[in-house]
Amino acid sequence: MALKGIVIDPGHGGTDPGAVSNNLKEKDYTLLISKYMYDRFKALNVPVKLTRDTDVTLSPKERTSKVQSFFGNGKDVIVISNHLNAGGGDGAEVIYALRNNSNLSKKVLDEIEKEGQNIRKYYQLRLPSNPIKDYYFMHRDTPNNETIIVEYGFVDSPKDDVEQIKKNYEKYAEAVVRAVCNYANIKYVAPANSNYYTVKKGDSLWSIANQFGTTVKKLKEINKLSTNVLKVGQTLNVTDIDEVVPDEYLLYTVKKGDSLWDIAKEYNTTVETLKNINNLSNSNLTINQQIFIPKNEKTGIKNNIYIVKKGDTLFDIAALNGITVSEIKELNNLKSDILQIGQVLNIPSKSTGEINYIVQKGDNLYTIANKYDVKIDDIIKLNKLSTNTLQIGQVLKIPGSTNYNTYVVKKGDRIFMGNNE
Ligand SMILES: [Zn+2]
Repeated sequence: MALKGIVIDPGHGGTDPGAVSNNLKEKDYTLLISKYMYDRFKALNVPVKLTRDTDVTLSPKERTSKVQSFFGNGKDVIVISNHLNAGGGDGAEVIYALRNNSNLSKKVLDEIEKEGQNIRKYYQLRLPSNPIKDYYFMHRDTPNNETIIVEYGFVDSPKDDVEQIKKNYEKYAEAVVRAVCNYANIKYVAPANSNYYTVKKGDSLWSIANQFGTTVKKLKEINKLSTNVLKVGQTLNVTDIDEVVPDEYLLYTVKKGDSLWDIAKEYNTTVETLKNINNLSNSNLTINQQIFIPKNEKTGIKNNIYIVKKGDTLFDIAALNGITVSEIKELNNLKSDILQIGQVLNIPSKSTGEINYIVQKGDNLYTIANKYDVKIDDIIKLNKLSTNTLQIGQVLKIPGSTNYNTYVVKKGDRIFMGNNE
């Protein structure tokens, strides 16, 4: 399935708090979960929208109209409606639409289970008055989308759900991100701040190595394992796996129409090299797949580019480069502080010479020219661009800015000549 986009719907909001119990309002946690998910999908370069990002009231009609307005009514759109349950049960469940199969729902619950939550069931629900229709409007009025309602736990659970929701809601949201990536063939990269992994039922060294982009050998080395047998609940250190995105690589997200040959040509490398680095057994690519590209003269990575490594925070990267967090965020169009391992960040250049800029989501020639105070025409000329359309991840040369750090004296300015005046 070529995915067009993901819509995340934080259930309830505004005058509708949803389920309320134990000082916990459903609408607050559905928003927290949804915003986390939104940031993560953004970081993974997946087109994503939220039906609300504040505590506002949405009628069912307004909600589903919004869903339809973002990416349309195709089955290539995944809609995730986030909810908490009530009624005194325990654990998570997923309700999927009558038109869909259970594959995505099953994956979602499998991943949430890995984070320690009890799993109830995935199921469909029919409208009693008209059983050919879905019970929930979210399914009914998103008529072709792949829509799931995820209930993460019970706000009135007699067991441990309340504590689990408060403590683990980000882990559950991340679990859904993993499941969706797996389902829609999106390359999943764990967030930079997850340093430890707890072994779950069904895991093997091989599956864990795959998940963290490393090898069984490396995992065993770091964790001093003498056997391949894992115990459920065992914690593995995945902190020191620097190879997740080695320094010498860029992470590239495959666009519609890309072939390995095109990418190799664009980045001055060979199809063979790309296949080797990425363990590809054939030349087939899927949209949104992420692949490593070796840095070289052409990609020209100099000190104005930074690739996020495991454990990095924006604060660390800013400190390391002698700049501020807001400078990095502005230059890279970042709306949140969440980073993804392998993400390529532009770092403000201290020099006035030509530099390289990696095109970020939301960029166009105008915004880039503005950031560096250069002329659009000069960027076009220097890069021999035949079109104004830019691709995310594209490397652009930025001409040395003559205005950088230079103040042009205007009429009426007074010029101080040291202490002599
Ligand atoms: Zn609800």
